[in-house]
Amino acid sequence: MRAIVYDGPREVSVKDVPDPTIERPTDVLVRITATNICGSDLHMYEGRTDFETGRCFGHENLGEVVEVGSGVDKVTVGERVVLPFNISCGFCKNCERGFTNYCLTTHPDPQMAGAAYGFADMGPWQGGQAEYLRVPYGDHNCLRLGEDSVDKENDYVMVADIFPTGYHATEMAGVVPGDSVVIYGGGPVGLMAALSATIKGASKVMVVDRHPDRLRLAEEIGALAVDDSKVDPVEFVLDQTMALGADRGCECVGYQAHDPQGTEHPNMVLNSLVKSVRFTGGIGSVGVYVPQDPGGADDLAKNGEVAFDYGLHWFKGQSLGSGQCPVKRYNRRLRDLIAADKATPSWIVSHDLPLEQGPDAYQHFDNRDDGWTKVVLHPAASN
Ligand SMILES: [Zn+2]
Ligand SMILES: [Zn+2]
Repeated sequence: MRAIVYDGPREVSVKDVPDPTIERPTDVLVRITATNICGSDLHMYEGRTDFETGRCFGHENLGEVVEVGSGVDKVTVGERVVLPFNISCGFCKNCERGFTNYCLTTHPDPQMAGAAYGFADMGPWQGGQAEYLRVPYGDHNCLRLGEDSVDKENDYVMVADIFPTGYHATEMAGVVPGDSVVIYGGGPVGLMAALSATIKGASKVMVVDRHPDRLRLAEEIGALAVDDSKVDPVEFVLDQTMALGADRGCECVGYQAHDPQGTEHPNMVLNSLVKSVRFTGGIGSVGVYVPQDPGGADDLAKNGEVAFDYGLHWFKGQSLGSGQCPVKRYNRRLRDLIAADKATPSWIVSHDLPLEQGPDAYQHFDNRDDGWTKVVLHPAASN
């Protein structure tokens, strides 16, 4: 089959790789009809992780079931399914408690928890930016879609990662109706956090970024766009909240946070959130931070440590939730919002492309070229 393969820093190509097969009775094989390029793919693309050359990226996947193992009871051939980016078993201590993001059995290293398709340090699983994908524990990991899944493919594919991840940021922050919410990062996840806050009935949603295309998308769903290359985002938020700070804040940037001049400051967004969120407010942090960052600017960054303003955070009595999203906690209800036309996450999609144009798309997306807000690749036709 054809697949996007990592060749080295900022180099990917579409190559022929062996087709996946049913390896265990609980496996399902999916023909991928939609697979996104994610901002977190870029950390690997840029060579900032130990992602192995020759492996395939792709953790935001949707497609049609083409084969099921003998131990699969629910999912059947021909059904269309969206796959949580987390690979989980359903029966370990963490999965049983709903933390499928930290599954204990799908990562081969007993000291690690959490697995994903085509992702550095998250198990050996191949990615789905390919024609076919092997899905372990298929009954547990496949979320089945209805007849509208062809027409709304670009909406449902967002349920694999970014829509639940944005929603999770608002859950950890504690967003309830009437809250004011500031979201740092207007990339796909930040925009999904803005959409989620809006769905939850936030009274005011502010999105901080500096890319005009992203800020326009934030405004399209009624959020206030805050261009941090032009205004101080903390002052903006305080102005908008009677100097109290926002009730809730979301971190949707991650460790490669940088100033408008391009210099990285891993603590920049976290510390701005501490200043932007009111006393006793909540912060949800879903932007990626890593335990080691060999490409980091200084010794602190190289060790994954962040000069976090803990003093002010503690003094303000804020709560802080962090980590990757347990997609299965939310994916059914987000799917059902899409089915009911209550959510249209595809509004951020800028490019629908065949797999063969993936390498070019990576380059544009990595450059943050204007207008490249979200890329959906279509390795196979959906009907
Ligand atoms: Zn993703
Ligand atoms: Zn598990």
